[in-house]
Amino acid sequence: MGQRHPATTSSEHLVIVGNGMAGHRLVEALVARPERPARITVIGAETTPAYNRILLSPLLAGEMEREALTLRDAEWYAEQGIELVLGERVENIDRSARRLTTDAGRELGYDRLVLATGSNPARPPVPGLELPGVHVFRDLDDADTLANAAEQGSNAVVIGGGLLGLEAAEGLRKRGMQVSLLQRDDRLMNRQLDLTAARLLEKELRGRGLDIHIDAQLERLEAGADGQVCAAHLADGTRLAADCVVVAIGIVPNTALARSVGLDVNRGVVVDEWLTTSDPAIHALGECCEHQGNLYGLVEPIWRQVEVLADCLCGKPGTGYVEAPTATKLKVSGVSLYAFGPTDPEADHEVLSYRDPQQGDYRRLLLRDGRLEGAVLYGDTASGPWYFEQALASRDLAACRSALLLGAADAQLLLDDALNESPQSPAKEAA
Ligand SMILES: Cc1cc2nc3c(=O)[nH]c(=O)nc-3n(C[C@H](O)[C@H](O)[C@H](O)COP(=O)(O)OP(=O)(O)OC[C@H]3O[C@@H](n4cnc5c(N)ncnc54)[C@H](O)[C@@H]3O)c2cc1C
Repeated sequence: MGQRHPATTSSEHLVIVGNGMAGHRLVEALVARPERPARITVIGAETTPAYNRILLSPLLAGEMEREALTLRDAEWYAEQGIELVLGERVENIDRSARRLTTDAGRELGYDRLVLATGSNPARPPVPGLELPGVHVFRDLDDADTLANAAEQGSNAVVIGGGLLGLEAAEGLRKRGMQVSLLQRDDRLMNRQLDLTAARLLEKELRGRGLDIHIDAQLERLEAGADGQVCAAHLADGTRLAADCVVVAIGIVPNTALARSVGLDVNRGVVVDEWLTTSDPAIHALGECCEHQGNLYGLVEPIWRQVEVLADCLCGKPGTGYVEAPTATKLKVSGVSLYAFGPTDPEADHEVLSYRDPQQGDYRRLLLRDGRLEGAVLYGDTASGPWYFEQALASRDLAACRSALLLGAADAQLLLDDALNESPQSPAKEAA
């Protein structure tokens, strides 16, 4: 690993396995570059061209039409001279012959291959998980299945109190179901929120009618007389009726294909900074890959991987992919949340916090040596991106500390004043 990516020539045949968000974004990036590989084939297991997976949540909640998720249709691919094969899964890769085979028996040669196979929903080892009526929430088919389940049933249990679980639970609730949500941790969104923000969120969602169980230990799922799931049992003896169960406890990189053909796989397909796997002719990006021990579950870092890989595939390898922090937002309408950095303070963090119970606003900032390292904003999140920008730039915020909690506008004014007053600043010299 760590080898520099060899330059490509545009006559190469590039095959992209997976027409999800990463695979599609790569196509968009390639067609925008004059040096794009002349021949590009995309093979996707789903039957529709790539769509905006992020919007599955508002789709499930009935807030958006199916068409709004479309990114590009099959005609667009044809217009770009790209062969799009849908509804076929790549099953094998003969790396020495550089040929692949799909489950439909299609065989195809390649010069360079990109794995963009995404991830699979994680499943807890709980008895009853295989029962009919137990679903995941990953693709369009899942969203349809859940919408149908909501029409037929009245009780749902959602396992997982992270982003995806909350969005699924709210979606089903909006479709009229009685929803119980199970969170194993001591708070909702435990990977993003501190306890105060998590409790505010919990209160808001309870107020809407969600039945939230914190510190919940799911013991087993029960089958009814018809063989369908009918209830969830918790370790404390609670029995929750369920016509429908949604498992949303996290994701596992989809590495089966890479592993089966002998590529280096750890938790994800191991890649270097040019997204190259242990085979120099094969790259991987998105949720299926692992870079320096990191896995991915949000699109922001994946978009940066796409730019790096697109340059490589056009024979212009740049400086390579570099990890950077990401901020999180929740897509539940009426709830504004913005968070980045550590959830809980370390011993040498300075903690600044502000709470306005009337307005339902909460802000908590974590600073180290005057520099912002983490923020949790609930309610008014308008300043979130500004805080994130300060943290990314590792800016010394001592000059605006007194206004930091007031938000971006006030804090920036103080920063600007300090800059104007500094002896080196042109404004001071002119004065
Ligand atoms: C409901 C939901 C809401 C989300 N909300 C957000 C959000 O608000 N913000 C955010 O940043 N991220 C969000 N995400 C995560 C985001 O969608 C993913 O990070 C992103 O889709 C990852 O892109 P990917 O291409 O790696 O994987 P995917 O988009 O899953 O695409 C992988 C594709 O590869 C196909 N495939 C797999 N194996 C094969 C094979 N052998 N042959 C052919 N095709 C194959 C799969 O069928 C799939 O279509 C959300 C995800 C979900 C499910």
